[in-house]
Amino acid sequence: MSADGIGGRLVVVGIGPGDEAMVTPQARAALAGATDLVGYGPYLARLAVGPEVVVHASDNRVELERARHALGLAASGRVVAVVSGGDAGVFGMASAVFEAIEQGDPAWRGLDVSVVPGISALLAAAARVGAPLGHDFCAISLSDNLKPWEAVERRLVAAAGAGFVMALYNPASSARAWQIGRCFEVLRAALPGEVPVMFARAVSRADELVTVTSLSAADPAMADMRTLVMVGTAETRVIARADGRSWVYTPRGVAAS
Ligand code: SAH
Repeated sequence: MSADGIGGRLVVVGIGPGDEAMVTPQARAALAGATDLVGYGPYLARLAVGPEVVVHASDNRVELERARHALGLAASGRVVAVVSGGDAGVFGMASAVFEAIEQGDPAWRGLDVSVVPGISALLAAAARVGAPLGHDFCAISLSDNLKPWEAVERRLVAAAGAGFVMALYNPASSARAWQIGRCFEVLRAALPGEVPVMFARAVSRADELVTVTSLSAADPAMADMRTLVMVGTAETRVIARADGRSWVYTPRGVAAS
């Protein structure tokens, strides 16, 4: 029971980019302790779930509704794990849970709510190619489902101007096909063509595909909904490896200009 006398617990859990070995022991323990799992169907499908656990799978578009449902379950005394891929706080379910708490039943503020961090796609993707996030960076979602596309373009231009490496989440989907092409157009006007670009698709899964190219050569068709696109800065370096692949790193410091 929490201080306010309503039972149940809710834990928001990031389960990493796909590989079992990238689910942290803390996330595993939180999942093992849950009576109910709530989340996007494909993420839940990745988990081995005991027969006594109730699974509430939903599609990807109903985050707030899903968060309210989870809070209602917790308030009724269940131990609920809300599951996100990667880290739940990075374009995941954690914000939806807090938005629902802020707007919802005041009793929800008395619930025992916690967040367990996970390995976000940007960390898993960066590790595959070396150290592209070695200096200042930002993460931008290219999805315009929850914000106007103009805001995306403004942020891309600002990040390019400020010298941030960019991790671009949600670069494309069947319903959002043109955004990544437009993104490259905007960035080509703001950055040198040699800036390294990485397409990291399905990192840590069986069909992983990681490609290193340049901003001038970057082909929007390389991105799909399971791809993290990373755009370097003018300082980001590419090292050719003996086997034809490349390392990419961003030096830890930049010279005074
Ligand atoms: N909370 C997640 C992000 C959810 S948004 C996290 O922290 O990683 C969904 C986007 O994440 C996808 O469109 C893709 O850009 C990225 N993504 C998630 N898993 C990925 C993986 N295994 N490989 C590459 N990108 C991934």
